[in-house]
Amino acid sequence: MRRTRYWPIFLSWITLFVFQAAFTVPIRSDETITIDADFPGGNIIVDRIEVDQIFLHQDLRDTKGDWFYWYFRVRGAERRSLVFYFTQSSAIGVRGPAVSLDEGKTWRWLGKEAVHEQSFRYTVPDSIPEVRFSFAIPYVEADLNAFLTPYRDHPNFKIEKLCQTNKGRIVERLHVGRLDGRSEHRVLLTCRHHACEMMANFVLEGVMETVLSESDDGQWFREQIEFLMIPFVDKDGVEEGDQGKNRIPHDHNRDYESISIYPSVQAIRSFVPPWSTGKLHIAIDLHCPYISGPNNENIYFVGSPDAENWKRVERFSEILEQVQTGPLIFRKKNNIPFGQAWNTAGNYTAGKSCGRWTSELAGIWFGTSIEIPYANANDCEVTAETARWFGRDLAKAMRIYLENQ
Ligand SMILES: [Zn+2]
Repeated sequence: MRRTRYWPIFLSWITLFVFQAAFTVPIRSDETITIDADFPGGNIIVDRIEVDQIFLHQDLRDTKGDWFYWYFRVRGAERRSLVFYFTQSSAIGVRGPAVSLDEGKTWRWLGKEAVHEQSFRYTVPDSIPEVRFSFAIPYVEADLNAFLTPYRDHPNFKIEKLCQTNKGRIVERLHVGRLDGRSEHRVLLTCRHHACEMMANFVLEGVMETVLSESDDGQWFREQIEFLMIPFVDKDGVEEGDQGKNRIPHDHNRDYESISIYPSVQAIRSFVPPWSTGKLHIAIDLHCPYISGPNNENIYFVGSPDAENWKRVERFSEILEQVQTGPLIFRKKNNIPFGQAWNTAGNYTAGKSCGRWTSELAGIWFGTSIEIPYANANDCEVTAETARWFGRDLAKAMRIYLENQ
């Protein structure tokens, strides 16, 4: 009788032990290391851990084909020298992984010196209980909120709800600049049609900084322009750490014809035309390109088959090239006109993109998309700060273009 009373306790110990063993892998008899992605933007699958060698790969989920986004944290590895091996496909960019020692608030590139083929090495500093690594510099809703905090009560800023996602999240709709409905021009900026393309959001921050600054440009924007900004078109994908690119059956940037399947794209298509009232003159959809390769380490605009639209983008490109002051150098010659590289007719049969949809709106001067590399732009390091600086350059070019068109 007595023994049976203790059985439930014994069983619960066994269960606890098995549960812990499933989620923590002993490294030494006195230490354990844990690896997970259970936080906004997280993405990893751990294959196995062999002492200091960790074998893992990115979680593709509903991606058609391959992609390269991942973001995970390591805990309980102080002073340990670890090697991380990506087991399935190319997933480390040209400056190595990004690393954060403050739970994802600030990041630096680890550098290609730490990388060997599809692995990287890292020694966790003393007194650092958690290290985060990612393909690039993550940007999720918490980062947007931190950036917006000082602007919450600014009279030239307001945040509204664009829609609710299928998973119940709110998609933000930001209005920045002249908000009394009497602006001369309107500008639409969108990010994260592809969930993993996070560097675009730092550029968006740079534009907002200019519009809400005390500078001459800031004052001009607040008198003349209303910006509509959608920082996370694929909000669920951003928060859940999806690749987003080439999502099955099609991704958010191929959802701009017939009946849209994503609530945020439906909402953009129904909100933007009446909001524009023919005054939406510039629409830029911000993206990040492929992991590496000849066209993917430069900032460039993506050419449209509409010759007049493209002529205007090229004119805007000339202005941007002339006025830029930041370290991320843009060169018009790096643009990819329609018909070149990957930008061909075949790419247009997959479903209408946001850039193409905006280029067809009544009154638009140009609608386009821009690609901002994850790590390397014309040999310059892409970071949160250099990308913001590029956003300030983009804003300056918009002012000159709008004033002179
Ligand atoms: Zn994209």
